[in-house]
Order: sequence, then C-alpha cells, then structure tokens
Amino acid sequence: MKISKKDAYTWFKFFATLPEEEQLTAHQSEIVYAAFAQIEEVVDKRNRELMESIGGLKTLQNRTYYVGNDDKFPNGCKSCLLGTGLSAVRKTNKCNLECKFCYNYGELDDIPPVGEGMWEIGETKYYEKDIDLLLSVHKKPTGISYVYLEPFMEIEKYYPVIKKFHDANIHQHMYTNGTLVTGQSVKILAECGLDELRFNLGAANCSDKVIDNMRLAAEHIRSVGIETPMTPEFIKGFFEKKNMILNTGIKFINCAELHLNPNNIANYYGENMYISRHGYISPVWSRELSLKLMKTADDEKWDIVVHDCSNYTKFARGLNLSAKEGKWFGANDYACEFPAIPYEYFLPVLQDESFLFLSEEPLPAEYADGL
Ligand code: SF4
Repeated sequence: MKISKKDAYTWFKFFATLPEEEQLTAHQSEIVYAAFAQIEEVVDKRNRELMESIGGLKTLQNRTYYVGNDDKFPNGCKSCLLGTGLSAVRKTNKCNLECKFCYNYGELDDIPPVGEGMWEIGETKYYEKDIDLLLSVHKKPTGISYVYLEPFMEIEKYYPVIKKFHDANIHQHMYTNGTLVTGQSVKILAECGLDELRFNLGAANCSDKVIDNMRLAAEHIRSVGIETPMTPEFIKGFFEKKNMILNTGIKFINCAELHLNPNNIANYYGENMYISRHGYISPVWSRELSLKLMKTADDEKWDIVVHDCSNYTKFARGLNLSAKEGKWFGANDYACEFPAIPYEYFLPVLQDESFLFLSEEPLPAEYADGL
C-alpha cells in the first residue's frame, strides 16, 4: 500500500492522541507499517545515492561498509560482526558528562550499580576471582568490550581484569568520553593488554583536551579510534579541527548512526525520523552524515578507516550473534527499543514539504474511514 504522505500524517496525528496501551486494529497497523515503509524507502534511496558517490566504498562480507586502509579496520568490530559477537563487560555506573544523545539521558544519577567488587559479564555477576572459572568452563569469546558509562571514573579497577582477559588471549576494547584519560592511565592500560580504545569525541564536542588525550592514548595503545554518534554538531566540530584530529594517530572513525530510545528521544523532537526494519528509530540526517564523512575521507585519501556503523550494521551484528549462539534460523535480537511506537515523533517528517514519498496512491476504501 503506497499510502500518501497526507493520509499518513492524518492517521499518525490520530494515533498520537491514543493512550499508549490502546491496541490498533489490523487495518490501522497496516497503515502504520505502510507509512514507515514509505519513509524508509526515501531514506534508502538517498543513502544509496550517497553510497554510489563514494568511489572506494568497501564492505566487510556485506555486513557493514567502510572506506580506507584495511589494516586499520578495528578488530573489535570484526569480532562483533564476524566473531562471537559483542560480549559486554560492565562495571562503572557513573559518568561525568550528560550528553543529549546518551541512552541513559535523564537517569545518569540513578543507574543501578553492578555491586562492590563485582563485574557484570554476559548479564551475570562475577567477582574478579571467578573469571578463571568462567574461562575454564565457557568457550572463550573472540572479543569483549567494556561498555557501561565512563570507565575512567575508576579506571584503576579495570587493570587486573584487563590483564586476566589479555592473558586468556581475548581481544578487548573500551569506550570512553576521553575527558578523564591521562598519560599514566593509558600507559598502564596498554601494559595490561587493552587492545583498542574508542573515544566518543562528540561527548565533549571535539574539545582540545580530548583530542590531546587521543594523541596520548595512540602513543601507547595499539588501536585508538573515534566512535561517536553522527550529529550535525559533531560534524561541525570535527571539520573545524579536522587536521588536528587526524594527526593524533587514530586508526579509525566508527560513524555511529544515532538511534534513539525513550530516554533521549525528546532531545531530538522536531527532527525528521525514520524507523529501520521496525527496529531502531533514528533522525534521517545521521546516516547521511556518516556517508558524507566517508566520501570526504575517500576523496581526500585519509590513511585511516571510516566505518559506517549504521542500523543496518546493527541488524547484521544481531544476525551474526544469534548464528554464533546457535539460535534458530532468522533469530535476531535487533528490535525496537520503545514499548509503544512514539507516533508524534514521526509527524515532522510527514509534514516536511521537502521530504517526498517516491510514489503515492489513494487509500483503498476499506482503510479510508475509521478516524
Ligand atoms: S559520555 Fe557516554 S555515558 Fe557519559 S553521558 Fe555521554 S554518552 Fe552517556
């Protein structure tokens, strides 16, 4: 059903007034999905055109796209997309910043602690002394990543655990906003065996201090890169300091397509949104910014990897993980992060006169009434 933008807008305005728990009829659900498909088709077409303009575009076994120096492709991403998946290790429940794109926006002071002396690995609590037992019983993952809030709030706690996993020959990567990184801490992390450190450079808006800390980290840690959501603010900050950033010694930029959840979506109210395969909801500009950055990197032959960590990549990641876990054919944990569709957030794109559906037809009579 090629619903028109006008009809989609009328229906979505109505859906937005319904109580969250109200179930739609099958006909109404078809209208919702028809509108989502119409929006996604436009987004896909625009992205396809951008991709066609990137001469050196490459894929990692069709699971993700990138440009640049193959040798610098982050091994953490290879583990996630080709290996046993993204095995998350959690420890710190605090952060010193409050980014508007943070998945924990609005609840950063109230994140459940993992527990004194404990680590959360595979959603299970462990003492450090239990890790040997874990490694002797479970099949080792190809890689693990430290993913909970800001690890440099208490980085010294990580050293012995990183050493243990390093001795077990497991690739390890860590995420940081970079503001609390010091020469001393990255030196010890490297000695303990941390393989990869990823800076969320958008968190402190490309601050000189974080750029300097990336340079310090790159002196010690084998693979240092940027992983940050692609937003207009980041791109502006990045291009103002492009040379300074590219000269830090980083090996990659992971362009994360910003996806939203109930915590942070209100910070992006009014933007044109789409939903990718009924899963992640994102502003349409985010992946466009990734692809434009990749095009610049390719045209200017930057000697790093610039990688399109898009909703499509997350979908492929979910497939890889479920295959490695031996789940049933088609299983994938990629899903929508909202308990109910936030219809009002799709009104701006349906009102935007410059966002045109590729083709439209009148609603069939049986769908046309019922408002
Ligand atoms: S730095 Fe990371 S954890 Fe901290 S507020 Fe920003 S996105 Fe959230």
